[in-house]
Amino acid sequence: PVQLSRRALSLKPSATVAVSSRALELRRRGVDVISMSVGEPDFDTPAHIKAAAIAAIESGKTKYTAVSGIPELREAISAKFARENGLTHPPDEVTVTSGGKQALFNAFFALLNPGDEVLIPSPSWVSYPEMVALTGAVPVPVPTTPGSGFLLDPDEVEVRVTPRTRLIVLNSPGNPTGAVFPPDVLEAVAGIAQRHGLMVVSDEMYEHLVYGAEQVSIGRYAPEHTLTVNGASKAYAMTGWRLGYAGGPQPVITAMNALQSQSTSNASSVSQYAALAALEQHHETAQFVELARAAYRQRRDLLVAGLNALGLPTPTPQGAFYVLADTTRLHPDELEAARRMLDGARVAVVPGTDFGAPGQVRLSYAVSPEQITEVLRRLGELMGTR
Ligand code: PLP
Repeated sequence: PVQLSRRALSLKPSATVAVSSRALELRRRGVDVISMSVGEPDFDTPAHIKAAAIAAIESGKTKYTAVSGIPELREAISAKFARENGLTHPPDEVTVTSGGKQALFNAFFALLNPGDEVLIPSPSWVSYPEMVALTGAVPVPVPTTPGSGFLLDPDEVEVRVTPRTRLIVLNSPGNPTGAVFPPDVLEAVAGIAQRHGLMVVSDEMYEHLVYGAEQVSIGRYAPEHTLTVNGASKAYAMTGWRLGYAGGPQPVITAMNALQSQSTSNASSVSQYAALAALEQHHETAQFVELARAAYRQRRDLLVAGLNALGLPTPTPQGAFYVLADTTRLHPDELEAARRMLDGARVAVVPGTDFGAPGQVRLSYAVSPEQITEVLRRLGELMGTR
């Protein structure tokens, strides 16, 4: 019999797996399930980015690079931080990773000791508490509510600071809430980090996907205390390329590089050249981002209006491409509600359980308007025949 490690055993089996494997099973049997569960753009990677990757392959840029990324890319990220975020990070304060996920993973292992506490606004993306727990540190949720649009209250952060608190994780625009934290909230959280000597890990993967709200980087207010994490996945429709990056105080970046040098080494060289094109040809890239943003906004409005009309209360999120819908009218238990949406309406969603969102399910609107309309029609039938 195989003896698994305590670490491996400590990973929480995902409550959502049951629903997604059932969705796959139905699909295999030929049932036309519409998936509102995946967190990825339905757009193709822009042509100028693909062309740069093809050129990189053809010119033999297919070997190991520096662990922290090719110098040109770190330069381009440094320039991006200055241009778009008002952050000053010279290239040696920048590192390139295999997806935003690895940047977060490296950051947590670089910063946390067992027993440390990490404040995480909740509902949150499932990987934060899981990764934090893997380091032996303790995730401490900071509750936010649908009534306020999941806005973070800095006082709720500060009352949870103890002598063991080491860092605060922010994700704005947020998955799964879509909340965008306004500048005054970020400034207040930055003040808390400064007063208590904490680090902030700011996950800005969805920064470009905001619909009227102002997206600001918290690193502006507390540069010495902030590690900013970002990547190509969501902004440039590049989820499969696995390209993320981070900028922050040099000791943190150096420790992240050391961790990466003993695990995965550099991010894919080809993906690095693709990301370089995305950042250097930023006017072209911005045109794509603008089109995608307008499309998501239209889809959000369609979905939110439809769900509310069906009696599934759904706040209007200001960013990212997710909504959290209150499904208690369908069933008080969100797992059961998700199961009914799948079995009764052939719509796959993610129950809020793992996000810390009881009574709610997450729907991604990175799908076509036609699919959203069809989802609403099917849910209408389901609700009508209850
Ligand atoms: N951060 C958040 C909030 C996410 O939702 C995701 C992807 O789902 C990631 C990070 C990871 O992105 P990547 O594909 O670059 O690893």
